Amino acid sequence: MTLVDTRNTNPKNLVKGATGDWEIIIGLEVHAQVQSEAKLFSGSSTEFGASPNDHVSLVDAAMPGMLPVINEECVKQAIRTGLGLKAEINNKSVFDRKNYFYPDLPQGYQISQFKQPIVGEGEVILELGDGEEIRIGIERLHLEQDAGKSIHDLHPTKSYVDLNRSGVALMEIVSKPDMRSSDEAKAYISKLRTILRYIGSSDADMEKGNLRADVNVSVRRPGEGFGTRCEIKNVNSMRFAGQAIEYEARRQIGILEDGGTIDQETRLFDPAKGETRSMRSKEEAHDYRYFPDPDLLPLEFDDAYVEALKVGLPELPDDKRARFIADYGLSPYDADILVVDRESADFFEKVAKGRDAKQAANWVINELFGRLNKEGRDISASPVSAEQVGGVIDLVQDGTISGKIAKDVFEIVWAEGGDPAEIVEKRGMKQVTDLGAIEKVVDEVIAANPEKVEQAREKPGLVGWFVGQVMKASGGKANPQAVNDLLKKKIGID
Ligand code: ADP
Ligand code: MG
Repeated sequence: MTLVDTRNTNPKNLVKGATGDWEIIIGLEVHAQVQSEAKLFSGSSTEFGASPNDHVSLVDAAMPGMLPVINEECVKQAIRTGLGLKAEINNKSVFDRKNYFYPDLPQGYQISQFKQPIVGEGEVILELGDGEEIRIGIERLHLEQDAGKSIHDLHPTKSYVDLNRSGVALMEIVSKPDMRSSDEAKAYISKLRTILRYIGSSDADMEKGNLRADVNVSVRRPGEGFGTRCEIKNVNSMRFAGQAIEYEARRQIGILEDGGTIDQETRLFDPAKGETRSMRSKEEAHDYRYFPDPDLLPLEFDDAYVEALKVGLPELPDDKRARFIADYGLSPYDADILVVDRESADFFEKVAKGRDAKQAANWVINELFGRLNKEGRDISASPVSAEQVGGVIDLVQDGTISGKIAKDVFEIVWAEGGDPAEIVEKRGMKQVTDLGAIEKVVDEVIAANPEKVEQAREKPGLVGWFVGQVMKASGGKANPQAVNDLLKKKIGID
């Protein structure tokens, strides 16, 4: 691949060495397990959590004479993902054999795509927190088989092999070397995960190993060309990716500043030590003796096939985000939070329907997500429905309860369920708008604090303190606006 530098150096991304500034260059190869019931070239199940070697067909075990047959569902998923990455879809692609020996690779080669992948160049847009948007180029996406798993810790002298994963379809998504910091790399992985989940082409669950990244890192002096990179294999969490990049960049800077050179090599990240270490010198494509798999025809489809898949795609996160900002008037920040997964976005839209959208966003983000986070729960496991959140908002909006009481109602709905309006009715939580009742409490508070009243006449801001006292005395049920108006009148502030 020809490497083109598409970014201007941002001083914010420079890291200090002993002899001056450095820039970190990062390119990622992400492996995402394709969401499909069967493997790429066999009918075996891809179900997670089965006993070792439960999902292994003769094809997966590479018995002599077995022939691979492509699973169309995996092809569709790769095309759909390519469309989600705004990428070029190649109507003709070729499967190659990538030859190497490994005990958990019974074929002695992996079927992958080399010169002619199913998907070509595309892009991923990252919204960085400070409103900055950057474009990360996609080099390609290709389909390939996963290998099995060697297990070394079950027996003192033997290793075991589990072939359940052998032959499962992976999409390898290769980025251009367009990232310039560990934060950008993490944002990229996170955005990619969001896109895959929207499309439903991978559950992209890093904990299950369904999304892994090979992280390529090099460093250079600002303004120079790309330096020699190291590739850190199989990083399986976003946090580790960040740590591996930070460590690796420091290591390379140290070597270069001491007058050394970087060896292009494959490294491993050790999460326990927080460092990377050499695994092997970098293998080149010719080491694998790639050649087209003679058991498989080139993969071909026409434009109509791609068009039909395009029509079936859901609204993608960037489009949804733009719509939330334009149609609901949300801030980019709120929109980002809400579109991070489809469930959250749908939940918000249900709450916002026929209501003030900013109120809806506030409630969903601050109250609901805040509460879910506290309990380590997902939106799909929320005990409170969109209807219930909407019900609480309606009660505030029509003046039945104050914002403060609304939070209590929300807590009750969270813990016990039920209809917010009924809860308010039954438990006598309604806001007191009866001026006579409020006036009595206001008078009491004023009478009890003559000095504060004097001060408030000088400093009108102090009225807030009185409002607090009256609200407290009324158990939070007084209408705060009415209290405020009444206090000002009685104390004599205009
Ligand atoms: P290979 O197939 O040998 O791993 P590629 O040229 O396909 O090599 O690149 C693999 C990954 O390495 C890509 O994600 C690419 O962006 C990244 N990359 C290439 N050169 C550099 C570099 N100098 N620094 C950081 N990343 C790089
Ligand atoms: Mg590579």
